Amino acid sequence: MDVDGNSESVRVLLMEEAGRHNLEEVMGVAPFASVYKALMPVQQGRLRELSGDGFDELLRDGSIISIAFAYPEHAVDSIAVGSEGSYDKERWNIYAREYIRLNEALNEASARIASEIGGVAIPATMTGIAAKISHVEDYYPLVVSHRVVAEQSGVGWRGKNELIVNPRFSCAIRLASVLTTLPLRRTLPTTMGCGDCHTCLDVCPYLRNKEELQNYREQCRRYLIHLGLVSDVCGKCVKACYRDSVYRDQFKL
Ligand code: SF4
Ligand code: SF4
Repeated sequence: MDVDGNSESVRVLLMEEAGRHNLEEVMGVAPFASVYKALMPVQQGRLRELSGDGFDELLRDGSIISIAFAYPEHAVDSIAVGSEGSYDKERWNIYAREYIRLNEALNEASARIASEIGGVAIPATMTGIAAKISHVEDYYPLVVSHRVVAEQSGVGWRGKNELIVNPRFSCAIRLASVLTTLPLRRTLPTTMGCGDCHTCLDVCPYLRNKEELQNYREQCRRYLIHLGLVSDVCGKCVKACYRDSVYRDQFKL
């Protein structure tokens, strides 16, 4: 089968998986080499490990498939209802539970795609990891950044909140990836960007001050542990992007 036929087969698999979970999906395909080059060195090491003996072949002409599932709209609207100190945590847990559900759905989808086309699935970033590490930097060697794969494959652009912003679903998506040597049609990085928008920065002091802070992700990690929801999430910067950004009229979950 040619690259387009192969890509179509993967797309159909992903659509089937999304349908099974009643979710909407996005897919992109980046050259393995461009993702490898864009990763921080410690994550390049992790990608090498995950590639095993296939690393050289993947680097030569392999691909990384970025797959994304979008949150349902009601889950995003359940984030941070109320005000600091009196948030409706039960409602917020709707989003926290959907986070777990999306991760599980992505893990099943990436495993199925990898098994059917011959490849290696990189599951969604682990639930519960934030509380198990002592500093956010402990986390980097454990994972490969799905955001880099999503950027390189045009699933979305890197927003000012550091999340991937998809032109249709905003940053209300979760990501997983699949390494493969199956010839696939590559999809290009998007030329879209945040422009003058700063809505997500307005809702989060850590994001707003990220240039001054040593690593704003550490403050974020501590904040979401402090929230104590059923999974380690916050999502205020996700809701701000979806509901109030300059793109709010074009986003649709
Ligand atoms: S998840 Fe919450 S604490 Fe973390 S960057 Fe977004 S708004 Fe800030
Ligand atoms: S809220 Fe605005 S600045 Fe922040 S990620 Fe979304 S589009 Fe970009």
